[in-house]
Amino acid sequence: MKTNFDLILRKNIKKLKSYSTEKVDCKAKLDANENPFDFPMELKEIILKDLLKHLFNRYPDPDSSEIKGLLSKEININKDRIAVGNGSDELIQSLTLAFGTRGSLSFYPSFSMYGIISTVCNTNPKVISLDKNFDIDMNITLSYIKKNQPSLIFIGYPNNPTSNSFSEDKITSIIESSSGLVVMDEAYSEFSKKTFLPLINKYDNLVVLRTFSKAYGLAGCRIGYMIASEKIVEQVNKVKLPFNLNSISQRIGIIALKHKRKCNKAIKIIISERTRLLKEIKKSSMLYTFPTEANFILFRTKISSKTVFNKLLSNGILIRDVADNKLLKNCLRVTVGKPSENDAFLRVIEKMKLLFV
Ligand code: PMP
Repeated sequence: MKTNFDLILRKNIKKLKSYSTEKVDCKAKLDANENPFDFPMELKEIILKDLLKHLFNRYPDPDSSEIKGLLSKEININKDRIAVGNGSDELIQSLTLAFGTRGSLSFYPSFSMYGIISTVCNTNPKVISLDKNFDIDMNITLSYIKKNQPSLIFIGYPNNPTSNSFSEDKITSIIESSSGLVVMDEAYSEFSKKTFLPLINKYDNLVVLRTFSKAYGLAGCRIGYMIASEKIVEQVNKVKLPFNLNSISQRIGIIALKHKRKCNKAIKIIISERTRLLKEIKKSSMLYTFPTEANFILFRTKISSKTVFNKLLSNGILIRDVADNKLLKNCLRVTVGKPSENDAFLRVIEKMKLLFV
C-alpha cells in the first residue's frame, strides 16, 4: 500500500520548518549568543583523562545525580527540586509536554523556541507583543492571563533578542495572577546578575531555567537545568527520555561545576567588552543601540538591516538580522565576541559610515 504522508502527519507539524542555522565561513561568529571563549584547555585535558576511565558500553545515570548534587550545593536547594536536560531547550519541551494543557503564553520578540515547542507539543501558543520599549504591556497581559489562565508562561530574563530584563514587580504580579507555571528563562543571567531564584520557595508555580551553553562556554555539550517545586520536577522527570543527558555531557558538566571559577573567567571579559562595544556603536549617529543586560547587543540601523548584515558578512563577520517584524524594523543582534572580533565588527561599522549618508 502507498503511504499518504499528508494523511498521517499531524497538522501542527506540517506547518513547521525544521530548525537550521546559517552555515557560513566567517572569521567572527557573532550570531548565536555563544561564549566567544572556548572551554579552558586545562579543563578539557581533565575531561579527556576522566573520560578514559569511563565505561562507554554502559547507559548513563538516568538521574544525572552527581551533576544535580553539585548544583544542589551551589544553589543551596534540595536535589529533588532540580531537573537536568539536553540543553534548556529540552526542559522547555518537557515542561510543555507535562503542563501544556491550557496553552502557553510568551512575548514577541522573544526566544522563538517557546512557541515552536508549544506547537510541536500540540499546546496552543499565544504570543503577546511587547510595547515599543520592549517592555511587557501589563494591561493586555494580565487581562489575557485572567481570562485564559495559560498553563505555561515563558519569560526571558534577560529577554532574547531585546536583551532587557523586565521589572521584578511586573513579573511577580504575573506570577501572582497566574494559576499556571511561570518559567523564568535565565539563560543569560550570569551577564545580568539578576535572578528569580530567591523567590523559588515563595511561589510554587515559579520555574527557573538555566543553561551551561552561554556563561560556561559549553553550547556544544547540551546541558541545561531547571529549579522548581518537587511536584513540578517530578512531572518533568516522568516525560523526559530515560537517558536524556549522555554520560559524556554529564562528566563535562560535573567537571565544569567543580572548576566553576576557571569556567567563569570569561564572564568578566564579556561584560567589559559589552560596555566597550555599546559605547563604540553609540558613537555612530546612524545606529541606535538598546540597553543590554546579556552577552549580546540589539541595535537599529537607519538603512536596511539586510545591507548592514551583508556588508558585515562580506567582511567575515556573521551577526543576526532579526528584522522580521515592525517592532524590530531594521534591527540586528550582535553577540559580544573576543576583543579582536569586536574590533573587526567596529571597523566595518566605521567604514560603513559612507553608506549611511
Ligand atoms: N533560552 C534562551 C533565551 C536562549 O536564547 C537559548 C539559546 N539561544 C536557549 C534558551 C537554549 O539554550 P540551550 O542551549 O540550553 O538549549
